[in-house]
Amino acid sequence: MIPYGRQNISESDIAAVVETLRSDWLTQGPKIPAFEKKLADYCEVPHAIAMSSCTAALHAACVALGVKPGDRVWTSPISFVASANCARLCGATVDFVDIDPVTRNISIELLSRKLFAAKKNNCLPRVIVAVHFAGNLCDMFSIFALAKEYKIKIIEDAAHAIGGEYLEKKVGYCEFSDITTFSFHPVKTLTTGEGGAATTRNDTLALAMRRFISHGITRDPDYLEQSDQGAWYYEQQTLGLNYRMCDIQAALGIAQMDRLEEFVGKRRDLVQRYMEKLSRLPLRLPRPNPLSYPGWHIFPIELINADRRKVFDYMRQQNIAVNVHYIPIHLQPYYRELGFSRGDFINSENYYAKALTLPLFPDLTEEQQDYVIEKLTLALRS
Ligand SMILES: *Cc1c(COP(=O)(O)O)cnc(C)c1O
Repeated sequence: MIPYGRQNISESDIAAVVETLRSDWLTQGPKIPAFEKKLADYCEVPHAIAMSSCTAALHAACVALGVKPGDRVWTSPISFVASANCARLCGATVDFVDIDPVTRNISIELLSRKLFAAKKNNCLPRVIVAVHFAGNLCDMFSIFALAKEYKIKIIEDAAHAIGGEYLEKKVGYCEFSDITTFSFHPVKTLTTGEGGAATTRNDTLALAMRRFISHGITRDPDYLEQSDQGAWYYEQQTLGLNYRMCDIQAALGIAQMDRLEEFVGKRRDLVQRYMEKLSRLPLRLPRPNPLSYPGWHIFPIELINADRRKVFDYMRQQNIAVNVHYIPIHLQPYYRELGFSRGDFINSENYYAKALTLPLFPDLTEEQQDYVIEKLTLALRS
């Protein structure tokens, strides 16, 4: 079976993990700050905070930005559920802004209109979670301008987008957002097994996230309410969780960071090949943001005439593990229960009805890719 995504683990990755297993520290040792430094340097951002997942990072980001019951958080429906759940975990109300059918990212026009109406009705969101779907970058410049106008905070959910560039800066640079979150799940571009991170330029947000992911505890003498109590002393100052990454994961992350450019480059080459070879088929292909250099995570296409279910089943029978990204979040039973229904975000629903994700990962060979293209061509003819 050709999977839709797959990690790339080298002997040096394995050696790095084994070395940590033989060391004094399995968690909270030297590998975590080293990984954080490497990620921060890569993104040219002052703070990178490693966590147990991107879900944890999104939750911590919402907490740090003060999201609480009574607040509203907006995101787009074509994402993984975690992009919305982070707000629900803070007791806030979630609402969605439909996607732009071309970019499949949050529609700037619809966002602008919805903000205008929300201001009139005194129900502006506290935070917008901008998802870089498939690794294709949102129009951050416009989102940032709107957020400034309406005094809203921005989280970039960059689970798909590590290694991408926007206006010549790496995703995670946070020029147009308060916090950026990453995922290091094995299907994503860089992996630590499970894992995630947040980056920010803001010292206060960084501190708040660090505290939240470790039980609300701080040991930093600069922030203790009672100083000079002894070296054992720590304070739990807020409520938090254990959302830490461990050193075994960080060791893998450090080793993987050395190959990140290679991973991103291979994905770009494969996407380029798909774009060329699929251009004459009745499909809608991803349309990269012209101000960016995307760090592709998945390759989602839309079928124009064909029956998605038939094509999906046919491809699976040919041992090609195509997938579908995503079921619109507002159609999940949990969100329907909160009042959303079919017809609420029609661009997302239309996209979902025709969406199909083709295999994309660094070790996908050109022969395998040609096989995928050949079978897809056959499926669309029948
Ligand atoms: C994978 C993913 C997440 C969650 O990442 P985890 O590390 O698995 O928690 C969040 N948002 C998006 C868009 C994702 O694809």
